[in-house]
This record gives sequence, C-alpha cells and structure tokens, in this order.
Amino acid sequence: MTSTPEEALEQAALAGIHRLPIPTPFAVGRVNCYLIEDEPLTLVDTGPNSGKALDELTARLAERGHEISDLELIVVTHQHIDHLGLVEILVEHSGAEVAALGAAAQRLAAFDEDAEAEDEFAVEVMLRNGIPEDVTVALRSVSRSFRGWGSHVTVTRPLEDGGALELRDRKLEVLHRPGHSPSDTVFWDERRRILIAADHLLPKISSNPLITRPLDGSNKRTQALATYIESLQKTREMPAEIVLPGHGEPITDHAELIDSRMNGYYRRKEKIHRLIAERPRSGYEIAQSLWGNVAVTQAFLTLSEVIGHADLLVNEVRVREVDDGSVIRYEAT
Ligand SMILES: [Zn+2]
Repeated sequence: MTSTPEEALEQAALAGIHRLPIPTPFAVGRVNCYLIEDEPLTLVDTGPNSGKALDELTARLAERGHEISDLELIVVTHQHIDHLGLVEILVEHSGAEVAALGAAAQRLAAFDEDAEAEDEFAVEVMLRNGIPEDVTVALRSVSRSFRGWGSHVTVTRPLEDGGALELRDRKLEVLHRPGHSPSDTVFWDERRRILIAADHLLPKISSNPLITRPLDGSNKRTQALATYIESLQKTREMPAEIVLPGHGEPITDHAELIDSRMNGYYRRKEKIHRLIAERPRSGYEIAQSLWGNVAVTQAFLTLSEVIGHADLLVNEVRVREVDDGSVIRYEAT
C-alpha cells in the first residue's frame, strides 16, 4: 500500500509515468502533464499555449533525456485550455498522434467557434438566472482574453468509453467521466492500479462542475453537478491505489476524498434549500446570499455552484423552477 504522495509519485515513476508540472497563467497554478515512457512515447495533456509552458515542458522532457520531437502520442484528457493549449505546436514539432474522446473530436477541432458558442450560451444562462448584463459583458471579455492560451486540436486516434489505449508495456482502459467538463476522460491501468484522472478528481479543491453545453454542442444545459456525482460514484468503486490528478499531488485515498466531497455537496445543497424555503430566489440571489461580492467577481463560477446544487433539489422534487419570462427563480415545493 502506498501512503504518501511522494511515495505515490515514486511508484508512478517506477511504472514509467512521470509528472511534469507546467505553469499556467490561471488561478489554479500549475497543470500536471504526465509523460509515459513506453512505446509510443506518450504525453498526457500539454499545458496551455504559451512560450513559458513550452520552455518548461522542453526542459522537463530534457531532464528525462527526451525532446519534443521524440513525442509519438499526445493524449488529451478534456477540453479545458490549460490541458490542451500546446497540442498543435507539439504535433508540428513531433508529428505525434493525438488521442482523445472521439465524441469530443468535432468540438476540439473547432476550438474558436466552439469557445464563442460556449460563451454565448454562458451569457444566456447567466441572464436567465438573474445576473446583471454588465457583469456578463465583463466576464465575456475576460473569457475572450483567455482564449489565446487554447488551441484547436485535430484528433487522429478517437477513443471510446470502455475502450483501451494499448502501449507496449501497458493497457489503459478509457473511461468517460463527465461532470467537471463534458469530455472528461480518465485512464485506468488495472494491473498497476493507477488511475490517470486529470481534473475529474483533485486533491485540494472540488472540481467545479461548470455550467456547460453537452458534448454534442447543442444548447441544452447539462446538469453538471448531478452528472459529476454519478461519475464520482463510479470512480469511488475502483480499486485504485494511486490517482494522478491534473493539478497538485497524487491521491492515495480516493474513496475517502470522494466521500468528503459528497458530504460537502450534501451540506451545500441543504443550505441552498433553506434559502429557497425562506422565499423564492434566483440563482444569482442565492449566490449573493452565500458569497456576497464574490458572486459578482466570480459570477459564473458561483452561479455554476448554485445551479448544480439546485438541480439536485429539483431532481429530488423539493424545489421547482418558476420562470417569469425573463428570470428563473427557484421555489420550494
Ligand atoms: Zn479542467
């Protein structure tokens, strides 16, 4: 049994999996890419599209005796830009194949159009949940300014949920675990009991299931938190010894961690239910009651939290959505 994160990193390294923490300009800090020294030479996630990230990735690869041009396979775990921004540049330098969930391939290929459509959708949802228009305009310009750290991605090896990624020395089971994003994919080495989980499970922070469109790119809002909880329950049952996350240190007690996340969701859900039981409130009003001014500065994130938990209450038929034609309010049943 592994006990500490340091030992887990060592054990992963013995299995040929090396963590490469790459800087990002985002609040989350560094993103973990994983180099798998196998055939083909594989990199799981790339870091954002920046010179700083490319320099650091180059240096980290060199420490292990590799160059960018040696990469043969790049695996993309999900659609977020801190994980995939360098893909096209790395492919140009290496000719590497790109593996990602096949169902996400179209959206990954149309990165700019897709990001624009996602932003339009987010604005629509924010307005419908009572967020003032000037706040949505500000958030949209922030989102546009982030887009340069992303990149379109041409998937050459589409993966399927339940399929396998076979390397010379290992077989990685491909599992779709939507919630944090609709395209979240984790990679399971059953023999070594190592799960490469990216942002599906993070040690220090809850994985923020953001309001989003479904994988097919249609405009129907997904129940991101409900979906995420379903995915977490599947992961909880896996006999993993080491979970390698997209940010931070390895996780060696994933079942306990998932239980504590579930507890947190339960408590927040009940708190939101109490607010709604007092009087009908919009998502924005609930966010303001819970977080004050942070509901303005982090309007999208906090609204995502509220709506995710309100979805759970709607599913339990304890709350319903009432639409007055402009704003949706939640009221207790
Ligand atoms: Zn992510």
